[in-house]
Order: sequence, then structure tokens, then C-alpha cells
Amino acid sequence: MSSPFPTVQCTSFPTSSPSRRQPKRHRDSSTLCPRSGVRRTSLATDIFRKVTITSSIKQVVRRILLEERKRSDACPRATQDAVLNTKNRNKAIKKLGYGPANPAKPGDFWEEKAEMWDGIPVNEAKSMLCGNCAAFDVSPKMLNCINKGIKGGEASESGKDTIKAGKLGYCHMHHFKCAAKRTCDTWVTGGPIKSDKRNKNE
Ligand code: SF4
Repeated sequence: MSSPFPTVQCTSFPTSSPSRRQPKRHRDSSTLCPRSGVRRTSLATDIFRKVTITSSIKQVVRRILLEERKRSDACPRATQDAVLNTKNRNKAIKKLGYGPANPAKPGDFWEEKAEMWDGIPVNEAKSMLCGNCAAFDVSPKMLNCINKGIKGGEASESGKDTIKAGKLGYCHMHHFKCAAKRTCDTWVTGGPIKSDKRNKNE
């Protein structure tokens, strides 16, 4: 990488005037060319600057990588914040028909969904669940996040039971903990996400 500081080697000094002034010394031990007035840096100063700049860039890159790793290791906010989770879930109920409220008593929920999905057979609509949606994350890492969020920071056996009973996972599309037996208007084929390698925390 070239130095951003001008390095000018002065090849000739004025000789005509007997009263010529000597080049000024600067605090950083560089000198000024008497003709051009451009700073002339010593080789040592130039090397010192290059080393300093290189190590500063390395530090910045290292910091960015560290923050990136922290972000990818972190749990999604909604898994740790019940208020945010509820807010996102209610939005999905209102705007995207997330449901049914009680999967054991769906009423005409599936008929309405089948109609909304271009009049597909009701049985087909019933098979399009969060549990097999591409946005549904039940990877070990994500289930651990959900578990920790239930008890406010600590994974527990009772947290595991809650996840199991509700068949919970995390919806990457709408950012809330959803239940495998429900669905919403934006269901996508290809799920669920079971492996930590495919886990995309947001
Ligand atoms: S996008 Fe998929 S996982 Fe999310 S609520 Fe809709 S059906 Fe469920």
C-alpha cells in the first residue's frame, strides 16, 4: 500500500544565492524542499507511518470481524423480549392471518385459508403449517435461545417442556416464536430449519 503522505526527494538545492536558507526542520523530522516548499519525509518516518497505518487497519478489521461473530452468535431479540415477541405475533395475526388461535378448535380457519390460497383443497391448506415452513427455525441453537428467553436468561427443563408442548420454533420472516401447528398467509415450502448451519439469526 502506498503512503498517503507525499514523499518528495529534493534533488537540487538553490545555489545561486549565498544567503540561501537551510530547509526547515519539522517536529516530525521531515523537511521542506526549499524550492517547492513541499514536505520531504525521511525514509524512517515514511516506514513508521506505513507500519502505523497498516496496524490501524488491522485493528479495525479485527474489530469488525469480532462484532460480526457476536452478532451471528446472538439470539434474535424477540426470543429474549416477550413484549417485542407479542407485538410481532399480534401483527402477524392481524395482517397475515396467523392462526388458528386454537389449533384443536380451528372453526372455519382452514376453509378460509384454502380460499385465500387460490381455492386449493382444504386438506392441502391444512398441510401448509409453520412446522414445515422455510422460515420456521427449530435448530438446537434456536431452541436454546427460545428456552433461555422463557426463563429470562437461563435455559431450563421447564423451558424445554414449554417448547415441546407448544411445538415452538422461531419465524425468521416475521420475528416471533410461532407454533408448528399454525400457519400464516406467507407460508413458504421447504422447511423447517433443523440445522445450526442453516440458522440465520436476525
Ligand atoms: S412465515 Fe412460516 S413460520 Fe412464519 S408465521 Fe408464517 S407460516 Fe409460520
